[in-house]
Amino acid sequence: MGKPTGFLEVERRENPWRPETERVRDFAAMHGALSESERMRQASRCMNCGVPYCQSDYGCPLHNLIPEWNDLLYRGNERDALGRLLKTSPFPEFTGRVCPAMCEKACMMAETDGASTNRDNELYLIEEGFRRGWICPRPPRQRTGRRIAIAGSGPAGLGAADRLNRLGHSVTVYERASLPGGLLMFGIPNMKLPKDIVARRIRLMEAEGIRFIAGQEASPDVTQGYDAVLLCGGARKPRPLAVPGSDMPGVHYAVDYLSAATEALLKGSAPAIDAKNRDVIVLGGGDTGNDCVGTALRQGCKSLVELELLKAPPERRSAGNPWPEWPRVLRTDYGQTEAANIFGADPRLFESTVTALHSDEYGRLCAATVSRVRRNDDGSIVPVAGSERTFSCGLLLIAAGFIGCDPYTAGAYSLSLTPRGTPDGMRGHNIRGNLFAAGDLRSGQSLVVRAIADGIAAANEADAYLKR
Ligand SMILES: Cc1cc2nc3c(=O)[nH]c(=O)nc-3n(C[C@H](O)[C@H](O)[C@H](O)COP(=O)(O)OP(=O)(O)OC[C@H]3O[C@@H](n4cnc5c(N)ncnc54)[C@H](O)[C@@H]3O)c2cc1C
Ligand code: SF4
Repeated sequence: MGKPTGFLEVERRENPWRPETERVRDFAAMHGALSESERMRQASRCMNCGVPYCQSDYGCPLHNLIPEWNDLLYRGNERDALGRLLKTSPFPEFTGRVCPAMCEKACMMAETDGASTNRDNELYLIEEGFRRGWICPRPPRQRTGRRIAIAGSGPAGLGAADRLNRLGHSVTVYERASLPGGLLMFGIPNMKLPKDIVARRIRLMEAEGIRFIAGQEASPDVTQGYDAVLLCGGARKPRPLAVPGSDMPGVHYAVDYLSAATEALLKGSAPAIDAKNRDVIVLGGGDTGNDCVGTALRQGCKSLVELELLKAPPERRSAGNPWPEWPRVLRTDYGQTEAANIFGADPRLFESTVTALHSDEYGRLCAATVSRVRRNDDGSIVPVAGSERTFSCGLLLIAAGFIGCDPYTAGAYSLSLTPRGTPDGMRGHNIRGNLFAAGDLRSGQSLVVRAIADGIAAANEADAYLKR
């Protein structure tokens, strides 16, 4: 433990946000950084708890050695701290930016003095590592001669590729999109995770011997002849909107919209789906909905409403949701804060949904009727009669969740699916024979850190299969 009294003397300080009014004018990163000395002070707050819940199943899916690297960071031994971090976490530059930091919610100090700033500390360590040239390609010393194909290059595919390559196997990653990275590249917006950060990691992995083939869908024809195949294609089948007219121009799924925004940013062109000067409704109050809000604001939307089907969660933890569980409380994310700043109010309407769509004389979306909803005793959700309001709406973004694994991949590899849309009858990460699965495709839509951990676990199973 670095400083026994650190948590008593030093207040929690997070990386500073850029002001809302400034950051909505561009797609650049939303945070600045603390100084080196303040970062060390923050690391001194970690108490090296006897039972470190931060690295337990409640906290970190990667089981990062959090108290160890916080201690080394506090002592100014940044290189060793980074070494300890990289023992369990292959891509801290991603998790340090987009992880909801369950480790901080599970931290002993979460409910009292303010959790240890683990996410910002890990981001500092990895970025210092890149800046000071400590991160360089480390290809394996020996190759096993075994060839492995990975379908999909999101965090699960990358985690698996990194692990298998370190074990000496020759890895080829197939990616349908024009660039590798999965939702890290086309999904999570640039202000949360700048795309040069994703490209930097891909270059490093290429230099370590991993082959990326972008713009190529994996199918049994493509992956035949490999010693093992890992399906990491994500869970991208969106939940549809069961309202007549939801296929009219102006209605889009969130990931299509967010991908178009990133593509336009990378190409310097106008986005194929643009919120500029449009009245926007975002259907879904989760993280994806919030990313749509933040993106629509940056594109210059005229107005913005965000609808959430569920009740607003409580402001504080309830008795049925004790620490160190993830707190199911009302959260106001960056996009909602920005919208409140620009339009004067939180854009969210809880317990509400779209019940009718209206088109103009050209057949394009021009308005949407929104109703409040209530839950029946049998769990069904129904509109409340008389609660309808019609909003002018030129762009409706559906961010209502995902209902299963990538349909093309499921069909191509003849996967039988559970009602949740995940592969049925799996044993661990094995589907059958030399075919494995990881990430959202295996578990349903989840988190970047879980996908990385799952990719590593699948890689270990594939390695054991090859050595059997
Ligand atoms: C908008 C949005 C924002 C999010 N924000 C966060 C966040 O801030 N923090 C967080 O922790 N999580 C976030 N998530 C969730 C997180 O991004 C996912 O859980 C994670 O990316 C899943 O990783 P994956 O590798 O399983 O799949 P994906 O990232 O979906 O990658 C799958 C890749 O496989 C490719 N593919 C599919 N089939 C094939 C095939 N047959 N051949 C070749 N390629 C194929 C797809 O094109 C895709 O690129 C967000 C999700 C969304 C939709
Ligand atoms: S629970 Fe918090 S204070 Fe304790 S070891 Fe983990 S990060 Fe440090």
